[in-house]
Amino acid sequence: RSVMERVLQRRSLRMRNMQRAWRESLEGRKMMDFRKSLPAFQEKEKLLQAIARNQVIVISGETGCGKTTQLPQYILESEIESGRGAFCSIICTQPRRISAMAVADRVSAERGEPLGEAVGYKVRLEGVKGRNTHLLFCTSGILLRRLLSDRNLNGITHVFVDEIHERGMNEDFLLIVLKDLLSRRQDLRLILMSATLNAELFSNYFGGAPTIHIPGFTYPVRAHFLEDVLEMTGYKLTSFNQIDDYGQEKMWKTQRQLAPRKRKNQITTLVEDALTNSSFDNYSSRARDSLARWMPDCIGFNLIEAVLCHICRKERPGAVLVFMTGWEDISCLRDQLKAHPLLGDPNRILLLTCHGSMATSEQKLIFEKPPPNVHKIVLATNMAEASITINDVVFVIDCGKAKETTYDALNNTPCLLPSWISKASARQRRGRAGRVQPGECYHLYPRCVYEAFAEYQLPELLRTPLNSLCLQIKSLQVGSIGEFLSAALQPPKPLAVQNAIDFLKMIGALDEKENLTNLGKYLTMLPVDPKLGKMLIMGAIFRCFGPILTIVSGLSVRDPFLLPQDKKDLAGAAKSRFSAKDYSDHMALVRAYEGWKEAEKEGSAYEYCWRNFLSAQTLQAIHSLRKQFNFILKDAGLIEEDTNNHNKLSHNQSLVRAIICSGLYPGIASVVHRETSMSFKTMDDGQVSLYANSVNARYETIPYPWLVFGEKVKVNSVFIRDSTGVSDSVLILFGGALACGAQAGHLKMLNGYIDFFMDHNLAECFLKLNEELDKLIQK
Ligand code: ADP
Ligand code: MG
Repeated sequence: RSVMERVLQRRSLRMRNMQRAWRESLEGRKMMDFRKSLPAFQEKEKLLQAIARNQVIVISGETGCGKTTQLPQYILESEIESGRGAFCSIICTQPRRISAMAVADRVSAERGEPLGEAVGYKVRLEGVKGRNTHLLFCTSGILLRRLLSDRNLNGITHVFVDEIHERGMNEDFLLIVLKDLLSRRQDLRLILMSATLNAELFSNYFGGAPTIHIPGFTYPVRAHFLEDVLEMTGYKLTSFNQIDDYGQEKMWKTQRQLAPRKRKNQITTLVEDALTNSSFDNYSSRARDSLARWMPDCIGFNLIEAVLCHICRKERPGAVLVFMTGWEDISCLRDQLKAHPLLGDPNRILLLTCHGSMATSEQKLIFEKPPPNVHKIVLATNMAEASITINDVVFVIDCGKAKETTYDALNNTPCLLPSWISKASARQRRGRAGRVQPGECYHLYPRCVYEAFAEYQLPELLRTPLNSLCLQIKSLQVGSIGEFLSAALQPPKPLAVQNAIDFLKMIGALDEKENLTNLGKYLTMLPVDPKLGKMLIMGAIFRCFGPILTIVSGLSVRDPFLLPQDKKDLAGAAKSRFSAKDYSDHMALVRAYEGWKEAEKEGSAYEYCWRNFLSAQTLQAIHSLRKQFNFILKDAGLIEEDTNNHNKLSHNQSLVRAIICSGLYPGIASVVHRETSMSFKTMDDGQVSLYANSVNARYETIPYPWLVFGEKVKVNSVFIRDSTGVSDSVLILFGGALACGAQAGHLKMLNGYIDFFMDHNLAECFLKLNEELDKLIQK
């Protein structure tokens, strides 16, 4: 022990010397000057004292005042200065991986060190951290994972939970666990940080923990609502007042076929309809819904373009930040803008995007100053709302929407819809424009719509399925899931909890008594959705790991098959070329990926993607995720060093199909053939439709009684995205009743199977059995 102590002491001294040397260097002094200019610096002493005296404190302050980059650093620096640098260990969580990486990078730069020295990061499947790392930025998910194996967070001295105002599921979950931990670890310090001012809620949760506000200075930002924006951009209003239940659908179709000029008029008519109603609440919910759907797409794109033109032509210099709903919208708008004579001119416009899956190199560009007379335009998701600060923003365009998963516990269906943001978010977005000088914010919705926004967004815990969360709670060994969750800041509905537990039982991760099964234990080791985790495990056991790895990676990234609005048919045809009559989007993905690998070897990857409507970027992401999953499964001892052994049966299409089924169950729909059409029914008798670019949507008949699918999504009706046809016997053996049905004994059977197959490598026999059954059933 004392040897260790001496080592740490020596290391602490070295850290102090390095810190002092940096501060005396020219670069270091410049950096210190910048850091001292941040509002957080004024409160530094007060903060350090408060943290020393209290176990928990809550800190709020305008975005950009220096909470994330400065506060954890103050602690680190003061520990280093007092010669105890190597004894502290600070963790700061971020809701998103990209912000954890960006912030760690920034803090290292501020300390004049390479990443992985005193400051590091860790996000799912990736990280840079070394022996000397004492400040670690990680996602909240990573800290939760760590808590599974290290319930007391031994060795950690300070935990910062950042962006708690977002009320992400992981953050809410963390708070329950940390609250419990604080009583066991009196020396642990917990610091909660939030941008907006609902500090009392958190303070009360921790028995009246002190709150500190960092007063920040921002310039005033003028808010323009849709009324003004239309006026300004020269849109004309004509009368229109018939959004009826069906009109919405019809409009949609005509909209696409109209000439751009005409389209503009139709759009404004819709908007006018919204404006002439004094209150948004006067709308029937149906009309409100249809308006809500219209806004981000049609009105949004052309209007955003018009506002951007207005800014670039008539306004002063300054970066423009455009808030949009998601990656799809961002890339569509980017393509539209690139074709524009002014906005697409690279000599005048620097067009950038900012979203969760962007590359690090692209991310750095966002912070850079553009050349003089060039307008920087950043198209962003709500990630740029609070976790990332772009300093030179003077103009904000806010479409008023964010894509969020909502969860309908009654129908047990997640819905992914762009929905209206809260007033707090709208204020936050507006605030981004006033960092360097007075700014302008263009809200692309009428003021009356804004007035009807909710004050704050609903916490994620109350609006998403709890499957993964419940599995993690189980592995924390804290007793009943329901009881544990009832200690949350705002506990979820019992029905939502029950649905999650039922689901975990159904896939065989929990037994009847809600205890983790063997499968469940393995699943908690894999940082993926339980369904996908199960598919990976089965793929490994049944020796067809390669294709399953591709499918799971594809399902966790996004669909690489592109669907340009104006070339839907061509794109659909291109995709179905990969399907070779096996009635499976998943297999099409495997073929597309393998084709891409081949093309890459021959140096023709670009043409390959172009010809087949594939996104090279997504394929690349799938490729790297594949490697990471491979690593994790090796790490968990599920596959051996030599993966060939796990790929012996990869060529066997029916086996791969069966494994897909085992992972996606209970996502199954029966195929109902009628005279000329097909319909699809899920287990709970719900009617579903196929997504337009599913290969199965192109067939008139499907020779399989069942489709298994990964997700059903409620858009206007319920859709299933990717699907694969399976036979009765496959469903019985790998999915339904026999392998892991809802009834008692069957659950155990799945575990029995896994152990059995692990022991005996009986995959081949199983297949034989399967074929036999197939024949039997056909007779
Ligand atoms: P907060 O967490 O309070 O929102 P941050 O600590 O993230 O604020 O950022 C404080 C300031 O540091 C920002 O206003 C910005 O000026 C600067 N900053 C943060 N990240 C970077 C970066 N990657 N590059 C340049 N400056 C940055
Ligand atoms: Mg921050």
